[in-house]
Formats: sequence, C-alpha cells, structure tokens
Amino acid sequence: MKKKGINRAMTLLMGKIRRQVYINLRRKKAEECISSRQGECLRCATCCRLLFRCPFLGPDNLCAIYKTPVRPRTCQMFPITERDLDDARIVSGGTPCGYRFNAENPCKSADRHGASAGQ
Ligand code: SF4
Repeated sequence: MKKKGINRAMTLLMGKIRRQVYINLRRKKAEECISSRQGECLRCATCCRLLFRCPFLGPDNLCAIYKTPVRPRTCQMFPITERDLDDARIVSGGTPCGYRFNAENPCKSADRHGASAGQ
C-alpha cells in the first residue's frame, strides 16, 4: 500500500517535470500538441490536484486566478500529451479529462516510446 502511494507520487511528480520541460524547452511541440487535441475542459479541477491541491483552487472548485496573467502556463496548456491524461485519471480515480488525443494524433504518444526531443 505504501509502495503504491510512493509510485503514484513519483508518477505525478514526473508529470509535473515533464510538463515543465515541454513548456520551457519544447514549447513549439507543446503548442502543436494542444492545438491538435480534441474535446473541451469540463472544469472538473482534477488537473488542479495533481500531486497536491493548488493553493489557488477555491472551495467552490474554481481557480481564483483563472482570468489573471499570473495563471501558470502549465495550467493554461494542460493536457499537453496523452500522459497528462493518464495523470489526471490517477487523481480522479478513472474519470477522464474532457480532452483527448485520437490515434492519428502524434501527440497521443509524443512522450512515450522514447520519442526524440525537439520534435
Ligand atoms: S482535468 Fe481536463 S477537464 Fe478537468 S479541469 Fe483539467 S483540463 Fe479541464
């Protein structure tokens, strides 16, 4: 049970690092991915609770800084790839994010199977 919790935390931590890498080092690829995803945000706030609850998430489950310029880019761009959807499923207990990457979308597996950096 403890090991499962550690694995979950490590997965979510790696997800946070992965998104930072995309946003800061692979921005073009990240923008390409989010422009080609489908679906819409359901305002479930699951992505505001990855690893820890965001301090800007209010008791009403709404982001207190949503319409401000200080809202982090990682929040604005979530999800970037399919793996972010996996992270959301871990936190939500299986409920999917409103976005998806279909099979033809190169971002479905952009950071799986050792896809090369700088794509
Ligand atoms: S997990 Fe997906 S649907 Fe839920 S708030 Fe985040 S982007 Fe929107």
